[in-house]
Amino acid sequence: MIKRLNRHDYDRWASQIRHTGGCRQPIHLRGKVEHYDRATGALLHRYTTRHEPDGVLRVPCKTRRASRCPACAETYRADTYQLIRAGLIGGKGVPDTVTTHPTLFLTLTAPSFGTVHARREHGGKVQPCHARRNAETCPHGRVKSCTERHSKDDPRLGEPLCPDCYDYTGSVLFNALAPLLWKRFADSLRRALAKAGGLTLKDLPRHLRLSFAKVAEYQRRGVVHFHAVIRLDGPDGPTTPPPAWATTDTLPAAIQHAAKAVSATAPTHEGQPARILRWGTQLDIRPITLNGDLTEQAVAGYIAKYATKAAECVGTLDRRIHSTDTLDAFNLRDHARRLITTCLRLGALPELAELRLTDWAHMLGFRGHFSTRSRRYSTTLGELRAARERFVHTEEVTHGRLPLFEEDTVLVISEWEYAGKGHSLGDALLAAALTGTQLGGPHDL
Ligand SMILES: [Zn+2]
Ligand SMILES: [Zn+2]
Ligand SMILES: [Zn+2]
Repeated sequence: MIKRLNRHDYDRWASQIRHTGGCRQPIHLRGKVEHYDRATGALLHRYTTRHEPDGVLRVPCKTRRASRCPACAETYRADTYQLIRAGLIGGKGVPDTVTTHPTLFLTLTAPSFGTVHARREHGGKVQPCHARRNAETCPHGRVKSCTERHSKDDPRLGEPLCPDCYDYTGSVLFNALAPLLWKRFADSLRRALAKAGGLTLKDLPRHLRLSFAKVAEYQRRGVVHFHAVIRLDGPDGPTTPPPAWATTDTLPAAIQHAAKAVSATAPTHEGQPARILRWGTQLDIRPITLNGDLTEQAVAGYIAKYATKAAECVGTLDRRIHSTDTLDAFNLRDHARRLITTCLRLGALPELAELRLTDWAHMLGFRGHFSTRSRRYSTTLGELRAARERFVHTEEVTHGRLPLFEEDTVLVISEWEYAGKGHSLGDALLAAALTGTQLGGPHDL
């Protein structure tokens, strides 16, 4: 730390760090950018990292995961928020007539894999977890009842009353098949809508487009739920109105039908029959209104929040587990550990190889994307980022750091190579102080 502070290029280093916005694990790049005049071939401007501190440029890691880098995850969250909101009320290239399109907020849940400790509230009062009079005892000698009123931060929340009765296999198979279930759900929903409009599935795209934005949320018990905004558009997306027959009343019925109709099958394994997995019976469908109890801000905030989280909130790891790792070293809670070991056990079976459960054990079997949108939902994260970069470019030109060129008269040649990641311990302390961010755990250093 003292060495860094005393270096002649400390100010430049500090400026790089401020530009990363407090990124906890910046990427180090080595390289150059040269601007040439297309007509004369003259070199107009050259930037090289050779004169930068340590000969590298530090840029933000851009992760979406708050557990890895809170600063970059915050940028991702804010972008996701803007994007979801634009799809609900317009903006960022989406016309505001989109507010007239039938739009719902949907939650698809996982089924039960055994009773877990839960916090229930009724009329503002916390209720007993699972109070059963004369409760039976399970084959493992545990009483199938819990009369405790759990606090919000009780680590037992989401954990089974009896881990030996809990269906760990079902839980990880559900996570593994959830992306397929979603795909089948969307297909079935399109079929149901086509039927409602008296059309064939093939004809549907010429009349109606199903637009959605969805996010996966891990429940404390370690299974994924999907929350989604579902919107009905005309054939060209949000710029065209949906057909008159596609109303706010058509959509819930079609969703209910589709959610019940679909299933995914896990192949036979370990002498067990093939297993059919479906959505849980809890299906929540709510209208999104500008001034009702579920506003567009609430929905956008909700989806954006979960987009930066992963399974680590269940107490598992936020990185892949390698064959050389010993799980004991990670200090996992019993439930997370059982879910992970179930993934590793099933992942070793050739019958289930396709589910790649070993690779995704740290995600408790889920290998889908956390946050996805259909093509025409609204703008994209890429466009939002490009808009921000254009803004930064204009700023740099006005502040004299970059000469102002006519874009098409200039040839830009850039060469970059990856030169590392993160901070030394001393740099991490200084960076945290400079950007007012929190220091990560020892694994970040
Ligand atoms: Zn970062
Ligand atoms: Zn309990
Ligand atoms: Zn039991």
